[in-house]
Amino acid sequence: PVDRSPEVQEARLKLPVLAEEQVIMEAVRENPSIVICGETGSGKTTQVPQFLYEAGYASGGRMIGITEPRRVAAVSMSHRVAKEMNLPTQVVSYQIRYEGNVTSDTKIKFMTDGVLLKEIQKDFLLQKYSAIIIDEAHERSVYTDILIGLLSRIVPLRNKKGMPMKLLIMSATLRVEDFTENQRLFRTPPPVIKVDARQFPVTIHFNKRTPLEDYTGEVFHKTCKIHRMLPPGGILVFLTGQAEVHSLCRRLRKFCIQLKMRKLKPQREAGIGDEEDGDSDLDLGDDAADGEEKADASIPLYVLPLYSLLAPEQQAKVFRPPPPGTRLCVIATNVAETSLTIPGIKYVVDCGRVKKRFYDKVTGVSSFKVTWTSQASANQRAGRAGRTEPGHCYRLYSSAVFGDFALFSEAEITRRPVEDLVLQMKDLNIEKVVNFPFPTPPSTEALVAAEQLLVSLGALEEPPCTGRLKEMQRAKLSCPITPLGRAMASFPVAPRYAKMLALGKQQDCLPYVIAVVAAMTVREIFEDLDRPARSEDESSKLNQRRARLTQMRRLWAGQGASLLLGDLMIMLGAVGACEFAGCTPRFCENSGLRYKAMVEIRKLRGQLTNAVNAVCPEVGIFVDAKMTPPTEHQVVCLRQIVLAGLGDHLARRAQGDDLVDPKWKNAYKTPLMDEPVFIHPNSALFKKLPEFVVYQEVMETSKMYMRGVSAVEAEWVP
Ligand code: ADP
Ligand code: MG
Repeated sequence: PVDRSPEVQEARLKLPVLAEEQVIMEAVRENPSIVICGETGSGKTTQVPQFLYEAGYASGGRMIGITEPRRVAAVSMSHRVAKEMNLPTQVVSYQIRYEGNVTSDTKIKFMTDGVLLKEIQKDFLLQKYSAIIIDEAHERSVYTDILIGLLSRIVPLRNKKGMPMKLLIMSATLRVEDFTENQRLFRTPPPVIKVDARQFPVTIHFNKRTPLEDYTGEVFHKTCKIHRMLPPGGILVFLTGQAEVHSLCRRLRKFCIQLKMRKLKPQREAGIGDEEDGDSDLDLGDDAADGEEKADASIPLYVLPLYSLLAPEQQAKVFRPPPPGTRLCVIATNVAETSLTIPGIKYVVDCGRVKKRFYDKVTGVSSFKVTWTSQASANQRAGRAGRTEPGHCYRLYSSAVFGDFALFSEAEITRRPVEDLVLQMKDLNIEKVVNFPFPTPPSTEALVAAEQLLVSLGALEEPPCTGRLKEMQRAKLSCPITPLGRAMASFPVAPRYAKMLALGKQQDCLPYVIAVVAAMTVREIFEDLDRPARSEDESSKLNQRRARLTQMRRLWAGQGASLLLGDLMIMLGAVGACEFAGCTPRFCENSGLRYKAMVEIRKLRGQLTNAVNAVCPEVGIFVDAKMTPPTEHQVVCLRQIVLAGLGDHLARRAQGDDLVDPKWKNAYKTPLMDEPVFIHPNSALFKKLPEFVVYQEVMETSKMYMRGVSAVEAEWVP
């Protein structure tokens, strides 16, 4: 029996999923796998684990597991469910990549999908669990897809062994045919239970025109206008990235101060909004302003940012009621689209765009591009406005443009390299990855590229050289894993980095390799020195800061031979210095390091150190907070190790005839690309431009820039 507080009990009764409890639990009893579809906010994530718990699925020493594609959701949902059930976090717990509060008493465990994949490697039958819920399956994240493929095999195996396990797939959209109508996945299609969301109507307002350039300006004008003209109710704005989110937050806060000033000086009231009265399409629609309550522009906007890299305590603010007498206004990226439900939203402003990472299938060059979102996503966004009362969604694009959007977003697995997945699968003894029951299979091209890379890293055996082309093709897609590959698969990083860890034993280099790999695999550890100044006043301060931080990075890059390690030496220096200073927010702020990233690196170092000790206990390494810089000899060794992992990412300085064309000035040539690539001015090697370098990745921004560059030269020539 669960002892819930009366408030929780009352709130639960309002959730549509509660009306379906009987139906869901009956389906679970009668089927090995089921699919549950229901609008965001209908209560799937918070309630379904509780249904299972109350039906006894957490008894007999087994757990209920729930996977989330996003860490934010795993953490915040575990807290929420613990609170609703009045149970401590030792019982309703979470596990994400580096941390968690799981104990031997844990009954309900929220985790990221990557964590469950790792557990399958340790115990294919997942014997600790009586039921697994795959949440947010509509997002089609790579690991979610793989997990569904694996679980479609694990569930029948468990049944056969007489220790049944249940699989529940939950989606916020009705588009689940890839799971239900895929014969290779489930021979008997799992039943689909639809939760009728008590969604209030949301009126959609399209723009007449579609701003192509300054859509953020348009978003600002629309948000101001809603605040000034429309009755109370929270506003949720969808933008594409962190920089946009912050810039809009600042503009809106400034706008509120202006409104307040005007109120204090009524004589100036005549011309409302010097800032916000822009040009276009500010039509809010007739019905939006109807109703009893009237707008009151004198109440301040309570503006909050929300994106995945934001610190957790900041993220948590959106769930709390805004201060009395304010209007909540959340400026978010698409984290707010389905995984988090923000209470009290009545107005949604949708820019219609999304920032996505794109990979070139041949060259592996990646770039972040802002593109139109899909119709399904736009509808999800609109739905956020109708959770508590009828709402309005302002789409800053025309209905014609909407009609041209793709119906659904593509599954992630079809859009990115898959070497990490292929290695994990091989480690699970799935030799012919092409035959794996993917909900949507990756292209054969991508699978071949992955196997080739893994062969070159020594993780897979060379395919035998048979004569016939067709057989060779097939052999290329079923190379068995090597012992090195097994060791690599046990490290929680991509194969290139796993290879570096596997080689790290030489010359007592392991602690450095671990620190470098940790830094290379955490996103954006350095403050962006190229960001534009936010205002005139900031401009000179920012220049000073740039100069100081550049100086500091030069210091981290070291002298002489260590310079050859290039950007990776800067990373190593940054990690060392930060750890030495106790990894405080203050140190990070002063040193231009992103605090959250440094904390992540610290945790990852611990985790990688444990993983390496588990593979070769004889090295007995530990995380040293006072790591001294590597010796010259160790730097040489480190460079060899880095080269072994990044060997196919080799670039050579352009020379000879190429230099006739000015576009090749200071450029590098790579085997896969016709276009020149460059060393970034902020790189440690920008002044040096060595003849041969290896790089972590090529990112296309204003130019094709290599990131994480280190030199291959045998010797340091000053
Ligand atoms: P779904 O998974 O179907 O999208 P959820 O179970 O996440 O729905 O949310 C159900 C309800 O619980 C929502 O109305 C939401 O506002 C509320 N809720 C979820 N998390 C929190 C939280 N941390 N604090 C307060 N309310 C929350
Ligand atoms: Mg959910």
